[in-house]
Order: sequence, then structure tokens, then C-alpha cells
Amino acid sequence: MSTNGNEKRVKVLILGSGPAGLSAALYAARAELAPVVLTGIQIGGQAALTHVIENYPGFPTGVGGAELGELFQKQAENFGAKVEFDMAHEVDLSQHPFKVTTDGGEYKADTLILSTGANPTHLEVPGEVELTGRGVSYCATCDGWFFKDKKVVIVGGGDSAVEEGLFITRYASSVTLIHRRDELRASPVLQKRAKEHPKMNFIWDTVITEVVGSSKVESLKLKNLKTGAESTFETDGLFIFIGHVPNTQMFRGQLEMSDLGYVIVNDKMETSVQGVFAAGEIADPHFRQVVTSAGMGAAAAIQATRFLEASTIPFGNPA
Ligand code: NAP
Repeated sequence: MSTNGNEKRVKVLILGSGPAGLSAALYAARAELAPVVLTGIQIGGQAALTHVIENYPGFPTGVGGAELGELFQKQAENFGAKVEFDMAHEVDLSQHPFKVTTDGGEYKADTLILSTGANPTHLEVPGEVELTGRGVSYCATCDGWFFKDKKVVIVGGGDSAVEEGLFITRYASSVTLIHRRDELRASPVLQKRAKEHPKMNFIWDTVITEVVGSSKVESLKLKNLKTGAESTFETDGLFIFIGHVPNTQMFRGQLEMSDLGYVIVNDKMETSVQGVFAAGEIADPHFRQVVTSAGMGAAAAIQATRFLEASTIPFGNPA
């Protein structure tokens, strides 16, 4: 990295520090490209908020999400990657080197690896926003502890809902999973564990139409989608796990994206702009695993290395 006033010039700038970003950093560092990772709000990304990750190879008894993130970071730093606690808020892909404006200043980057991840989808019902942090949560690892001996509701039928619901059984007196269908989407192993757990209950074919409470969550208004019957369910907490929205707002209009806002990449992690690569959940609506994101990050860095090697532009020199 070279510095000119408040502007820093780098060969590889990585936006986001989840499994994709930190794996890209490891590979780019080993290629001696001195990559810089801008962490964004949460170092380690969403994975760092997961209590235990049981399906990342190499950890037969599981590994804490935050611990895995720290290991990724340390490994990348050992080879020369720089991890900056900084947040990008504007990119300009129309000029080369690409310009990235952050809280801390400005970067000029010869290649960019975008791995800004995804955020939880909101239910978008009355009361949800007002009671967020007052009983409504999107993170069991962060907030589960607050519900010791309390009644908790989980909404969603995927792996996240079931896995996080099982985690909250450590604290809560009961965990009721409300799903809009009569069948879970979650993997069979998680489903079996949840259905056999004495603290877990299920309400099928039902949606939440309102979160009710003055200073904290008191109850939920429910509607059965098969019968149309409406009811009220008393609870102390509501955890929402109904999917994610990719963090791609910054790149809108500059990169090709799908209708759902995912960055479109080819099998080499190349985006529609030469020299810009994307990896992890911003480009993956299908798998969204720590291991697949890490693999995409590694692939993006290998391809960025090839791009720099093949180019005739004198990359990395101060502008
Ligand atoms: P997901 O698989 O997309 O599941 C979202 C769930 O929310 C679905 O059951 C969906 O219902 C429901 N839903 C969506 N919008 C809703 C709404 N407006 N109201 C009520 N319910 C709604 O999301 P995810 O569970 O976050 O998982 C995402 C990916 O990460 C998946 O590929 C998953 O396998 C992976 N993941 C894996 C693990 C693991 O391997 N341990 C852990 C977490 C996540 P329908 O089923 O009716 O569509």
C-alpha cells in the first residue's frame, strides 16, 4: 500500500471481512499483493454471529463463529494482509484504478474483491421496527441470553430458524417456531433435532401480522393461512430468520445484478467490470455456507492475481 495524503493506493482492496473476504485476503497475501480488507460493521461477517459452526471442514466438534473469524483473520495477517476497521460507503467503478471512499479516507485500488455479504430480511409488519432491541431480534447469539426462562418465538422454516431456535432453548423456557407452511425447509438433521427437543413447539401454516407491545414485546397477532383464523400469541421475544438481502446497494447501476440484487459473477468470480470480483453471499443466493463463501473468496483472489499478472498497466504505483 502506498499513501498520498489521505488517499491510499492498493493492488487488491477487499470490501467485507466475512469468510469470503478473509479467504480472499489469505490468497492475495500469499500472492504477495499486500491486500487490504475493509472490515465493514462486523468483523467476521454473519458467520461471527453464529454460536457454533458444525459444518466447516477441519473442526470435527464444531467451532465458534467468532473464533473461526479470528482464525481466518490471523492466518491472512500472517501472510501480510492488512485488516482495517473501516467502512466503504461509495465506490466508483467507472475509473481505473477504482475509487473507494470510506469513513477513514479514500482508496485507489487496481482490483476490487467485493464480499459485503447480506443482511437479515425483515418481516415488515407493524411493531417490528419499533420493538427491535426490545424483544425483536435477528441474532440469537447476540440476544439469546436476554431470554433466560422466557417464552420465545422464532419465525422461519430454514436452517437458520431451526438452528438458532435450538440455540435459544439453552436459555428460554419454551421456543415456538412459527412457519408459513406445514413443512420445514431446514436440513433433515436439524429438523429431527428440533422436533425431538422438549422445549420446542411448532405452529404451522401461520404468519405473524403484528408485533404487539408498548415498551417491549408482549404478544404477536397471528393468521392461519389455511383457515384464515386470527389469534394472539403471548411471547417475550421474537427472533426473525426469514432469509437475507445482499448488501449491494453501493454497486447498483455500476455492476450487473440479478432481479433480487445479487451481483452476477461468472465461474471465475468476475463481475461485469474488468478487475472487479465478487465472492460470498453478495453473489450467492444458492449455497450460503461458510465453506462455499470461503471457496468463492479464494477463487476471486486467484483470479485477481491472474488479472494483475496479465495486465500491462503498471499496477500498484502511486497515482
Ligand atoms: P432460507 O433457507 O431462505 O429460509 C427462509 C425461511 O423463511 C423459509 O422457510 C421461508 O419460508 C421463510 N420466509 C421467507 N420469507 C418469509 C416471510 N415474509 N414470512 C414468513 N416466513 C418467511 O434462509 P436461511 O434459513 O437463512 O438459510 C439461508 C441459507 O443458509 C440456506 O442455504 C441454508 O442452508 C444456509 N444455512 C445453513 C446453515 C447450516 O448448514 N448449519 C445454517 C444457517 C443457514 P418457505 O420455506 O415457505 O419459503
